Amino acid sequence: MSIVRIYAPSWGRLDDRKRLARSFAEGDIVPPGRTALAYGQGRSYGDTCHNDDAVLLTTGQHQKIISFDTQTGILQAQAGAVLADILSSIGDSGWFLPVVPGTKFVTLGGAIANDIHGKNHQTRGTFGCHVKGFQLWRSDTGSLNCSRQENAELFNTTIGGLGLTGVITHANIQLMKVPSHFVQETRTPFASLEQFFERDDQLHSGGAAEPEYSVAWVDSLAKGAGLGRGVMITANHIAHDSNPVYGQPRLKVPFTPPIPLVSGLPLRLFNQLYFHRNSRNSNPQTADPNTFFFPLDAIAGWNRLYGPLGLFQHQSIIPAQAAFKTIRLLIKTAQDAGQGSFLTVLKRFGQHRSPGLMSFPQPGYTLTLDFANRGQRTLALLDDLDRITLDAGGRTNPYKDARMSAETFQAGYPSWQKLENLRDPLITSNFWKRTTTRRHVAPPPLQTPSVEVSVNQVAKRGIQKDQLQAMENVGKYRSDIVEPQ
Ligand SMILES: Cc1cc2nc3c(=O)[nH]c(=O)nc-3n(C[C@H](O)[C@H](O)[C@H](O)COP(=O)(O)OP(=O)(O)OC[C@H]3O[C@@H](n4cnc5c(N)ncnc54)[C@H](O)[C@@H]3O)c2cc1C
Repeated sequence: MSIVRIYAPSWGRLDDRKRLARSFAEGDIVPPGRTALAYGQGRSYGDTCHNDDAVLLTTGQHQKIISFDTQTGILQAQAGAVLADILSSIGDSGWFLPVVPGTKFVTLGGAIANDIHGKNHQTRGTFGCHVKGFQLWRSDTGSLNCSRQENAELFNTTIGGLGLTGVITHANIQLMKVPSHFVQETRTPFASLEQFFERDDQLHSGGAAEPEYSVAWVDSLAKGAGLGRGVMITANHIAHDSNPVYGQPRLKVPFTPPIPLVSGLPLRLFNQLYFHRNSRNSNPQTADPNTFFFPLDAIAGWNRLYGPLGLFQHQSIIPAQAAFKTIRLLIKTAQDAGQGSFLTVLKRFGQHRSPGLMSFPQPGYTLTLDFANRGQRTLALLDDLDRITLDAGGRTNPYKDARMSAETFQAGYPSWQKLENLRDPLITSNFWKRTTTRRHVAPPPLQTPSVEVSVNQVAKRGIQKDQLQAMENVGKYRSDIVEPQ
C-alpha cells in the first residue's frame, strides 16, 4: 500500500500540516527508518494521534462489523468501525453501546486506546470496562489475542494506552440492554456551584432512582454568588417505537472565520441564552439519542468557529473531597485571565475501575473547558489550570491535550513507565515524545525557545537537530528541554 501525504487533523486544529499516511495492513506497516501510529477519526483534540516522524496508519478501510449476537449483546467489529455505524447496525435490537462520548464519529480502536467515558461513568465506568477482548498487531510480535485471561498485561495497558502498544485490528465488546436508544431527559437549573454539588449528591446517594446519565453544563462567565451556575441534565433510556438515524450532520460551518466567534459578546450571549432557555422547563422530555448524546455532531466542522489558530481543551479530574474548592478556582482562574470557556461541562466520575492502566478517569469530578487559541496567553492559562489540578491531587486528560509539560503528565500518571516498557518499539506519538522522552523543567517565560528559529540559526547556535524537532513540538509551551539525567 502506498504512502500518501494527507490532511489528518486532530480536533483542536492547532496544527494543520499534511502528514504521511498509509492504510494499515498487518505485517507491512512500518517503512524502514520510520515510526508509526494508528490514526482513527482524529477526534482527539491534540497530539496523541499525531507523530511527525511517522507514517500514520489509517484504519478507514477496516470498518467492518464482523458479528453481533442479539442474544448475548456481544459485538465484534474491526477497529476502524465508527461508533455511528455500530449504533446504526444494532438499531432496534434492544442493545446500545454502554459508553458513548460526546461525538459518534470516533472509531472502536480510538475508543479503546483512549478508554473513553460518557455521561454515565458513575453507572458503567469507561468503554474499556466493556471490552471482552481484541487482537493487537505489534511490529515485534505480530498479532496477539488480548483479554483479561490472555496476554492480560498487554490488554490492560492497551486500554487507555494512547495507541502506543500496537494497532488494534478488531475487538469484541459487550453491549448494554436498553428499552430503546431514545432517552427521557430532565433539565434542572442550578444557581451556583454549591447547588450543583448538593443536587449531584442527592442524585447519586445510592437510591434506586439514580439516573443512568447525568451531566451538567456550566455558565463559565457567571460571577459572584452565581459562579458555577448551570443546568443539570439527567436521563434514562425509555421504550420508543422509532429507529434513530445516526447520519451525517445536515449543517456545516463552511469556512474558518478570521477571528474566533466563540469569545466576547457572542460567548456571553450564548451562555445567558442557554441558561435562561433551559431554566424555564424542567419537565421530562423524550430525546432522540443524537440530540441527547451527540448534540455537537449536528454541525459539521463546528471547531472552525474557534478561528484559524484552533482551540485547546482542558479536562481535569479532581478528587471529590477537593472538588468544590478546586473547580471554583479553575473556573475563576479562566475568568480572571479574560478567557471564558465556550463549552464548560462538569460531571461526576464514579467508583468503577477500568482495567486500563493509564485510563484518565478516577473517582471525583471532571471539568472540561474549551478555549480559542490566543498563543502565550492561553498557554499560560492552561499551565495554571494544570498546576491547580495537580495541587488538588487530580490530573489532566492526555487525549484532550496538546501542550502539557512532561512534569505535569508524569506527576499525574505515575504508571507511564509501565506503558513505556510495553510500548511497541516502532510506535510513538508527538504527545509521548513531548511528555516522556525528555525531562521538562518550567523556566521563567523569557527563556522560551522561539519556534521561528531557522535551520541556519540553529546550526550557528549549535542546537541539535532533535532539539529543533522537540522545539517545533513544544516551542509554544514555555518549557526548556533538557536531556534525561
Ligand atoms: C465533540 C467531541 C466530543 C467528545 N466527547 C468525549 C467524551 O465525552 N468522552 C471522551 O472520553 N472523549 C470524548 N471525546 C474525545 C474522543 O472520544 C476520543 O479522543 C476518541 O478516542 C477519538 O477516537 P478517534 O477514532 O477519532 O481516534 P484518534 O483521535 O484518531 O486517535 C486516538 C488515539 O487512538 C489511537 N488509535 C486509533 N485507532 C487505533 C487502533 N486501531 N489501534 C490502536 N490505537 C488506535 C491513536 O493512535 C490515538 O492515540 C470527544 C471528542 C470530540 C471531538
